[in-house]
Amino acid sequence: MKIGLIGLGIMGKPMAKNLLKAGYDLTVFDLNQAAVDEVVEAGAKKAASGAELAANCELVLTMLPNSPHVKSVVLSPGGVRDSARPGTIFVDMSSINPIASREIAEELAKKDIEMLDAPVSGGEPKAVDGTLSFMVGGKQEVFDKVKPILQKMGASVVLCGGIGAGNVTKLCNQIVVAANIAGLAEALMLGQKAGVNPETIFQAIRGGLAGSTVMDAKAPMMIKRNFKPGFRIDLHIKDLNNVMDAAQSVDSPTPLSAQLLEMMKNLHCFGEGGLDHSGLARYYERLAGTEFGVPAE
Ligand code: NAD
Repeated sequence: MKIGLIGLGIMGKPMAKNLLKAGYDLTVFDLNQAAVDEVVEAGAKKAASGAELAANCELVLTMLPNSPHVKSVVLSPGGVRDSARPGTIFVDMSSINPIASREIAEELAKKDIEMLDAPVSGGEPKAVDGTLSFMVGGKQEVFDKVKPILQKMGASVVLCGGIGAGNVTKLCNQIVVAANIAGLAEALMLGQKAGVNPETIFQAIRGGLAGSTVMDAKAPMMIKRNFKPGFRIDLHIKDLNNVMDAAQSVDSPTPLSAQLLEMMKNLHCFGEGGLDHSGLARYYERLAGTEFGVPAE
């Protein structure tokens, strides 16, 4: 099967390399020429545009920042929709608004193009290892065709429901991750101010009920004040805004997500939107008037 991948950022680039390692015929496109060159060096073909890529592939994948980017690449005149042949499968692996996923799928269906929304969790390390978790929405028969390909990039590939269900599941994931990070920063700052070393607290609680994958990944980053992304605050703001939209559309309450969104927006306003989301520690540092790693007086 000829595969095309549009979007070679932090996530898309290693995912493309894993498809190449698995032996697939892969064509790529990105606005960032350096990223394209690196993946072409690893064995991919290069397309001059998303439209050229879609015209020559049976499966088109996207890994782009947000709904407007995916809509523009797919639905704008001369985009993927206009050039893909009927029967092409389109899989959007970006984390976008589930409402947008449904709108895009509806438009593509008019041209006999099937779509899955298939966002991932796991971040750059798991993208590199090929051990991402895919949360997929769409028809079972389309899922069955694409699953073996997604399994070359992910350790877990789960069909969550109809189109949009993948992105609904991803938004649920992002609420839990953000709440964990904020709770961790709040707890470690309390510990430090009360005179207990945050590293000691982390080691003492990580094996108990409070322990989590988030804690294991993010506590060491906070303690060392290493906020190199990873997953950027600005992308998490995008996800929490999508949580607000999706929740509004089904009348679901999200008081905690609203608070987490405000906290992350504070970082953005301080010019820190490019930090890893463990950078929520900076919000607590500002509130506390001290930094992690400074002993209590
Ligand atoms: P990124 O910003 O690093 O990469 C996005 C890429 O898309 C860039 O290379 C950019 O040049 C390209 N792009 C943007 N508009 C384009 C267009 N019109 N045509 C072609 N290329 C275009 O983002 P990322 O971190 O790789 O994230 C991608 C998606 O995956 C996001 O939805 C994000 O929320 C999700 N995600 C990210 C992580 C993470 O840890 N970074 C983890 C899970 C999910």
